[in-house]
Amino acid sequence: MNRPIKPLASWKGQDRFFGEVKSTLTAIFLSGGCSWNRCRMCGYKNDRDCSEKPELIEHMKAQVSWLGENFKSDEYELGKIFTSGSVFDPNEVPLEVLDTFGTFFAGKPLVAESRCEYVTEEALERLLSTLDSGQEHPLTVAIGLETTNDAIREKSIDKGNTFEDFKRAADIAHKAGVSIKAYLMMKPLFLTEREAMEDMQKSIAEVTPYADMISMNLCTVQGKTELEQYWQRGSFRPPYLWSAVKVLLDSDVFVSCDPVGGGFKRGPHNGDKQVEGCLDKEIVSAINEYSLSGDKSVLQAVWDAGADCREEWEFVLENETSWNMPLTK
Ligand code: SF4
Repeated sequence: MNRPIKPLASWKGQDRFFGEVKSTLTAIFLSGGCSWNRCRMCGYKNDRDCSEKPELIEHMKAQVSWLGENFKSDEYELGKIFTSGSVFDPNEVPLEVLDTFGTFFAGKPLVAESRCEYVTEEALERLLSTLDSGQEHPLTVAIGLETTNDAIREKSIDKGNTFEDFKRAADIAHKAGVSIKAYLMMKPLFLTEREAMEDMQKSIAEVTPYADMISMNLCTVQGKTELEQYWQRGSFRPPYLWSAVKVLLDSDVFVSCDPVGGGFKRGPHNGDKQVEGCLDKEIVSAINEYSLSGDKSVLQAVWDAGADCREEWEFVLENETSWNMPLTK
């Protein structure tokens, strides 16, 4: 393969982090690839550097160097790193690369994504040893729990771990002084719109005691995925933006949400009837604004403007029925 000299993607932005808006640098690195590699909606399966370990280390370090050459350290306050899998999976990201990440972001808070089984004391300490210079909240591990319902996680996502596994990881992290961000997914395969909303509301309530931050992802249709095949056959529709607004408005705790693909057919979108004040793009902006400010009035404004446009969504909530999944073999 050609030597990757830059991350798969990197950009500057803003994030609400422990109640404060911080400027961020986000980077998605090409790694050895997700060891699990089975989730039905995941499109990252093709992002994989199959080199031997010494070359993989070299390639990943080169991506971090590229980041340093292209973003000045004083341009952002918070780092966010992702791979096409788990930052703490040693088969995917050799431990030596954690040192490079830690040195690069030293002194700034860092959010790193991982599956829960790789959240070990050893891995966290390894990253903290170079990262932690006494800054507040030096490390946050973001985990794609998706839902607190083990049956939905197994049948609709095939994630391969349980809520108990997540709680164990959260405990290990907290004991090491590391924070936890839980990613929840609205509307994986096989759920009706109503089931998806109810699952999200229950998951938010159940994960709150274990997570320092919660983020709601709205399921999108990524290319070359099992989910895409169902979608092409008309067996899946991404969630309505109304469902997201309703969940955020009703939540007792702050939940952030980045409605990726919002307003497009592969992303969360509402029905055809839309009026000024609650167009899909206006709802997407309101959700993004709320995710930074925590101010629900922006959500309430689009909700109020859309009273006449919710007929289709309300009909779906009332009438959509779920597929019959056998419980036994
Ligand atoms: S969602 Fe995460 S754990 Fe699942 S296959 Fe994709 S990268 Fe792996």
